[in-house]
Amino acid sequence: MEQKNDLDLIRDHAKQRSDAICAMNQKLWAFAEPGYKEFKSSRALEEALEKEGFTLERGIGGIQTAFAATYGSGRPVIGITAEYDALPGLSQKKGVARKEAADGNTFGHGCGHCALGAGAAGAAVLVRDWLRDTGNSGTVVLFGTPAEETGYGKVFLARQHVFDGLDMLFTWHPSDRNSAMAGRCVGNLCARFDFEGISSHAALSPELGRSALDACELMNSGVNYLREHIISQARVHYAYLDAGGKAPNVVQSHASLLYFVRAPKNSQCREILSRVEDCAKGAALMTGTKVHMKIVGGLSDLIPNATAQQILSDAFLETGPADYDENDYATARAFLGILPDAQRREVIKQGASANHVSEEAFAERPLVTSITPFDRNLMNVSVPVSTDVGDVSYLVPQAQLSAATCIPGTAMHTWQHTAMVGSGIGGKAAVAAARAIAYACTKVYRNPSVCEKAKQELLAETGGIYQCPIPDDVTPADVITD
Ligand SMILES: [Zn+2]
Repeated sequence: MEQKNDLDLIRDHAKQRSDAICAMNQKLWAFAEPGYKEFKSSRALEEALEKEGFTLERGIGGIQTAFAATYGSGRPVIGITAEYDALPGLSQKKGVARKEAADGNTFGHGCGHCALGAGAAGAAVLVRDWLRDTGNSGTVVLFGTPAEETGYGKVFLARQHVFDGLDMLFTWHPSDRNSAMAGRCVGNLCARFDFEGISSHAALSPELGRSALDACELMNSGVNYLREHIISQARVHYAYLDAGGKAPNVVQSHASLLYFVRAPKNSQCREILSRVEDCAKGAALMTGTKVHMKIVGGLSDLIPNATAQQILSDAFLETGPADYDENDYATARAFLGILPDAQRREVIKQGASANHVSEEAFAERPLVTSITPFDRNLMNVSVPVSTDVGDVSYLVPQAQLSAATCIPGTAMHTWQHTAMVGSGIGGKAAVAAARAIAYACTKVYRNPSVCEKAKQELLAETGGIYQCPIPDDVTPADVITD
């Protein structure tokens, strides 16, 4: 009998397992749990992997909803990260092209982490099938990583050394396109500023009061001036955690702000945050109040790894895009139909060009099925968003792909994306991602020397130094998630 090649093996197993991956996507989508509270979601994934012969380690890094599932033996050891946290206020009925909350839950999978989790776990199972079929040496570890959205899950796990000892790591993210990602993401430091003043009657004895709210406003003004004198790639945002109460006739004795400082490198975030802190100190001095700053979160910038990314890109081009069916295209058409005319025309134009088909053909089947390969020239381009994969990227050579879980032009974190990713579209994209990641793993197992090359590349960038952006005394319990 003729021996099947690795691509055929992965494709065959993916076909057999595609229903299970789609079902897992829908299950996690329906759970839609907040960060660090993904109890049902993590359990569903743990049980599915345990059933396939993975060895489970639950509650890794001291986080209840984090886990590691391991299969195989020997090197290379390849990690795959799964996410499964949802977002507040994005509850939505699946596949329905009008805003309508699903029953019984206010959270929704606006970022598609249900598909991410199902696809990543699916990839690990496909790797297991391949290791068993071929008898090849190698280990796969599926990491269940909670609270990506606002909880810095992987940063806390990185600090607890759960990613140590890996040779390479792959993951993916839902998107409106299919691509092997190339660019960088910025680092982010999150700090709260608590001002303490003196309360007083604002009309009768204002001279006795010292306003914490005044201090916040002066601090924000100072930072608004500071923005002109920092690098243009940096972003500084703030929100009021506490505006001192609802009574204008009481001098506010307490007020708090939350700041995000984003920049291409962690060191730049630290430098800018220290200048933001100076604005806070100045505001406290001006108002006779006291201020206390505490860093409550942080994300490292994301370092792409050309070696790992090329392997994943090659694999994705060979395994191909999602196998959407006619139901998926009907769902996609419904969402295309609700767009304002000008936007719909633009989406059709862009999609037709991406798929190399006529505009009429794309309007009939409006999902992107072309794959944009890895482009080395984009490796130094930073997008102004942050991810907790950044911290992992300092420790292990990593690569990511994106697969289309929605019609082009759909923003993540919207009810439209929640609706589409919960339908068959999200499930099929998860299968496509699982297939590509699993096939990339087989390439690494077949040719382990690529791990050394990828590690040298990472070392040249970091010098082997990783500094966790979150201080030692800050735990997931201190993270502000609402
Ligand atoms: Zn996301």
